[in-house]
Amino acid sequence: MHELDVELDPHTRALRVDDVLQLRGTGAVEVSLDAGLHIAEATLDGHPLGEGRRRGALRVHHVDLSGVHRLHLRYEGKVAPLAQTDHRGTLEGLVPMADARGSYLPAGTGWYPMVGEAPLRYRLTLRLPPGQRGLVPGRQLEESDGVHGYRARYAVDVSTDGIDLMAGPYVVDSRTVEVAGKRVRLRTWFHPEIAELSSGYLDDSVRYVERYSARVGAYPFDEFGVVSSPLPTGFGMPTLAYLGVEVLRLPFIRATSLGHEVLHNWWGNGVYVDYASGNWAEGLTTFLADYAYEEAEGADAARTMRLDWLRDFAAIPEQGDAPLRTFTSRTHGTSQIVGYNKAAFVFHMLRARIGVDAFEHGLRRFWDSHRFRRASWDDLRRAFQDAAGEDLTGFFAQWLDRAGAPRLRLQRAQRRGDDLVVELIQGMPPYVLDVPVEITDSDTNRRHAVLRMTDARQTFVVPGAGRADAVVLDPGLNTFRLLDSGELPPILRNAMVDPRTRLLIASDDADFQTAARELANSFLDHPPSAEADSGPLLLIAPLDRIDALLSARGLPAAPAEVGTTGSARVWTARDGSATTILVIAARDAQAVAALRRALPHYGRQSWLVFEGARAIARGTWPVRAQRLNIQG
Ligand SMILES: [Zn+2]
Repeated sequence: MHELDVELDPHTRALRVDDVLQLRGTGAVEVSLDAGLHIAEATLDGHPLGEGRRRGALRVHHVDLSGVHRLHLRYEGKVAPLAQTDHRGTLEGLVPMADARGSYLPAGTGWYPMVGEAPLRYRLTLRLPPGQRGLVPGRQLEESDGVHGYRARYAVDVSTDGIDLMAGPYVVDSRTVEVAGKRVRLRTWFHPEIAELSSGYLDDSVRYVERYSARVGAYPFDEFGVVSSPLPTGFGMPTLAYLGVEVLRLPFIRATSLGHEVLHNWWGNGVYVDYASGNWAEGLTTFLADYAYEEAEGADAARTMRLDWLRDFAAIPEQGDAPLRTFTSRTHGTSQIVGYNKAAFVFHMLRARIGVDAFEHGLRRFWDSHRFRRASWDDLRRAFQDAAGEDLTGFFAQWLDRAGAPRLRLQRAQRRGDDLVVELIQGMPPYVLDVPVEITDSDTNRRHAVLRMTDARQTFVVPGAGRADAVVLDPGLNTFRLLDSGELPPILRNAMVDPRTRLLIASDDADFQTAARELANSFLDHPPSAEADSGPLLLIAPLDRIDALLSARGLPAAPAEVGTTGSARVWTARDGSATTILVIAARDAQAVAALRRALPHYGRQSWLVFEGARAIARGTWPVRAQRLNIQG
């Protein structure tokens, strides 16, 4: 238990802290503190600690620590200026930082004394100069604000992983609601320039707290806050979401990220992640928030999200993939594709397998038995298993412990009397898969069957489907698998990330050539390949020559979707040997140069039309599901 008194001056970046730390147990204890902080006073049970004290670490040794002891530390120092980093830099190199525009002292960065990685509880008084307000996660006990500055006191009564402290020139707006008989105070701590967004954020926060209280169990805290940050990223913490000012301005954040962060008060901050055995909380939160919002939009929107996940997964280079169980936190794109998206897809398949009722029951059961405790993937499995009355060991093992994903092939479909025989193939060792197929007949009836596959090659008899004229493999994309290039429509990213991408500029004009080369260098991840004789082809050509050029090279003509307007048209295609072609046809050198800024943001599109730097139309080609037509 910490009793902290923290004084921060964001203008001078001076930090002064007084902490009384209760220590329990026996033996020596190592207390660590950021090396840049100067310890002015250190006592244990009132006796000065001389020996064993050095910058950055304090070793309390040769002291009988049986019973409860009071370690009192007074220290001060200057924290770093606000980092000017991008999202990735922010995630990787967090240090305490201060600025009048916003200060952030992240948990685990040594600005408070840390005893190993043990969970902690705290009470904290925060003092800031006039014009600044601030907070830490937890319950606000008291607050005063005036000409002498801001002072607030917070308490966290359940164990937590660390202390995050935030301050800024905040305008605070608040609302108290009753959710399932419990009073919850919601607040926004916003920079003045976005203060007018607060009522919308409060409305939606209430809605999410109500939604998940009803679905999972009562909201586990007394407060929830949305706090604006000068950093370009977002962090969820118990009782609050800390999101960038520019992020909060984005119109879709209230409909997506906000709900995700509210739900983390159940998954992650209500039930803690046992990181040693993997992080289940991001996948579960993504499934019940981000994905659920798409489902609420309709089946097409949900399928589109699954397609995006499968497409991103298919783009991971083989050596970059890792089993889901090894995921602990988001550090780069691939970890998100596995730790968030693949995990969410696994919950989608789990719900399909055990049914909605058992799934919901399992969720509530997991919540009830692990509230404010650490939980692992195995705990989650047991909760669903008990709810479903079915052993799920194999299901979880294949999706958590194996990297990659099954490759499925619809091998054969034949009528046999009144029945239909369907043969499916997958790789070795086989996964146990519930594979949906759609069967159509000449009267345009559609029926759906789910084939449970347990072997690498398996033949199924679908009774009464002897009039079928076609079978389609998993058209709804409900099975997590590695889509092959025949199924996946080409998108810009296929050419952008492939180191084998070759560049062909079909113009004699020197300005056009220069602009085209600069465009290619800026939006390809690797310089265009001079050696590769296979791999994607990037073709940049003047609009008035493109049709003749495509036909001379035997390539598919421009698709109807890109039309005949705009200063530039961009599209992907495949040639006869399934090579991805990315065509950029532009009016002139200026039209090519205008694409440099915008084009890299459209990696998930299959085609676009630009007027100058603005995309005026875009889209993706549909998935080509595996389909077998049945003759006779
Ligand atoms: Zn999250």
